[in-house]
Order: sequence, then structure tokens, then C-alpha cells
Amino acid sequence: MTSRTPSTPKTPGPDRIVVVGAALLGGGRLLAARRSAPADLAGRWELPGGKVEPGERPEDALVRELREELGVDAEPVERVPGEWPLREPYVLRVWTARLRPGSPEPRPLEDHDELRWLTPDEIWDVAWLDQDVPAVQAVAARSGG
Ligand code: C5P
Repeated sequence: MTSRTPSTPKTPGPDRIVVVGAALLGGGRLLAARRSAPADLAGRWELPGGKVEPGERPEDALVRELREELGVDAEPVERVPGEWPLREPYVLRVWTARLRPGSPEPRPLEDHDELRWLTPDEIWDVAWLDQDVPAVQAVAARSGG
């Protein structure tokens, strides 16, 4: 009888931490947020969002992060297929999202110092974080840009 070391089942990355990013769309425009911190990311633009907390649904994290960072009442619309690596152990997943009726307009409350609503023609006018570029490409491809 051959003895074999039991192989560890490859569960999908139990040690990965999901960061949710919002492709917040309104009037055919995409919201970009310029980071004010930390120093190595400051001045670069990102899809607003943040870490999913333990036990939290990613869609709920998205709504929470948009409320905290932008003061808005938003709802996720659909997941943008794909998953993009950030620095270990983080991975970025993106949802399109929209403001709920009656939501305040977004304003930079924490982490950001400027916001821009980009038309499809303007999407590449801002210096996106390197790690957000493939996600923004996927969003642009879906919205026909
Ligand atoms: O905003 P928060 O600090 O929770 O984000 C967690 C990490 O994910 C940070 O390192 C942030 O730079 C990164 N991030 C990113 N792209 C995004 C959102 C967050 O690289 N669109």
C-alpha cells in the first residue's frame, strides 16, 4: 500500500482579503476619486471602495464604503467579471453602482481630495492607480467605451 500525504484542498484563497471598488455611474459618466493618502498613492485616481470586513457581504461593504468615503446612498448594480490583484493579500472586485434617488451628491470625505465624473471620452484623462487600470478597462469595455 502506498502512503500518500493528503493534499491540501485548494480552496479559493481563504487568506485573500477582498477590496470592493465601485464603478459609480450617473448620466453615462464614471466617478473617479483622487487619493489623498497614503503618500505613495496620493494624487492617483481610483474606483472608490475599500476592504470587506470579516462576515460582511461584498455588496454591503460597497454601500458602506461609498457612504463613508463619499457621503452617498448608493446601490450595487452588477458585478464586473474579473478579479485583480492588489498588494498581497488584497484582491480587487468591482461592481457597477448608482446613486439611489434622493442621495446626496458625492463629496470627498476621507481618503480623497477630488472627484470627477468622467465621460467615456475622458476616462483615460486621469492617472488611475496602476492596479485599477485593468478594472477600469473592464468597466469601459462593458459600457461600450
Ligand atoms: O480604502 P482602503 O484602505 O480600505 O483600501 C484597501 C486597500 O485597497 C488600500 O491599499 C487601497 O490602496 C487599495 N485599493 C485599490 N484600488 C481601489 C480601492 C482600494 O488599490 N479601487
